[in-house]
Amino acid sequence: MKILFVGDGQLGQMLGASGIGHGHECLLFSTRTNTVKPLSAQLDLSMSLADAIAWADVVSWEHEDIPADILAAAHDKFLMDPARIKSLTDRRAEKKLFDDCRVATSPWQTYRDADELLKILNQAEQPLVLKAARGGYDGKGQWRFKLADNPAELAQQAGQAPGIAEHMIPFEREVSLVGARSKDGSICCYPLITNVHDKGILSYSLGAIDPVDDALQQQAEDAFRRLTDALNYVGVLAIEFFVVSDGKQSRLLVNEIAPRVHNSGHWTMTGANCSQFDLHIRALTGMPLPLLRLEPTLMLNVIGADQIPAGLWHHPDTQCHWYNKEPRPGRKVGHVNIRTANRDTAIKWVAQWAEKLQVLAD
Ligand code: ADP
Ligand code: MG
Repeated sequence: MKILFVGDGQLGQMLGASGIGHGHECLLFSTRTNTVKPLSAQLDLSMSLADAIAWADVVSWEHEDIPADILAAAHDKFLMDPARIKSLTDRRAEKKLFDDCRVATSPWQTYRDADELLKILNQAEQPLVLKAARGGYDGKGQWRFKLADNPAELAQQAGQAPGIAEHMIPFEREVSLVGARSKDGSICCYPLITNVHDKGILSYSLGAIDPVDDALQQQAEDAFRRLTDALNYVGVLAIEFFVVSDGKQSRLLVNEIAPRVHNSGHWTMTGANCSQFDLHIRALTGMPLPLLRLEPTLMLNVIGADQIPAGLWHHPDTQCHWYNKEPRPGRKVGHVNIRTANRDTAIKWVAQWAEKLQVLAD
């Protein structure tokens, strides 16, 4: 098949590489330069967007912020309603989807401007997290409100653009579910992944290392099924959750969803018989979804560092990925997957390498 991916960042490249491995032809459309590109090479093809869409059997994406001209021109080449996917770039629509699907999430309300936000802050009875409705990622576009803070000052700052105010959740840990839904509605999910963030950016993920009890996995897959059924979704989708506990029982609250392959699923490139990229290609092209075989794998992000040290390239248990991006503090430029026996060895790897591999912005 011929697949056109919207976006030419690392996720687009890795999707394309997987597509090639499955015998497909792949092109990328860069939404930065508005040009069609071959895989990997920083070249623009002399092919218009319209030509690329006509060429493709199917159009998919590495990010959900799909430009309006592609939404219109490629409508028949998407496997689901792309406008519905794009609507998820707005946190208000995303939270409403959770409520509509009866998937538990932190209580939330919307504000349109500083005045509305000020009212919310003045009435708050617990700490809040404020999130701009659009454009936030890696913890950007977010503010924390504690009851001792000055509401007027924060409302001025955070109320510049519309957003949501939600309860701050005292979570036990953060986990994500990465899985795929195929055209016939069958699903295939990896086990819940534990994720640790630093300054709002994913620092590392524990894949098939930190088993949760079956009830939580069931809860997560139930949420996955409801959300993907509601979207009539085809392909890989990730759900980020908070694990909360009342002292006796743990349960999940959904934080956000990413209707695409996800950073917390990168461990599957080493730790699974079918990576999240392969899984997406299979779902897109109507191939059977696999029975999964997994190996415990730590994924450590490379953030802002100018290289991955030679010791990691040499080590027999590591697999290094470099995205060919200009390093700057807080920017993801690669990741290292590390086969590891258990949680303790994983945490030792993190203690040894995270500081060398991660340069965060202030
Ligand atoms: P993004 O990943 O798009 O930047 P998130 O909504 O996932 O935005 O927020 C980033 C991180 O901030 C989360 O992974 C979590 O650590 C923290 N966070 C977000 N919302 C809340 C909340 N309601 N309560 C506690 N922590 C939160
Ligand atoms: Mg997130």
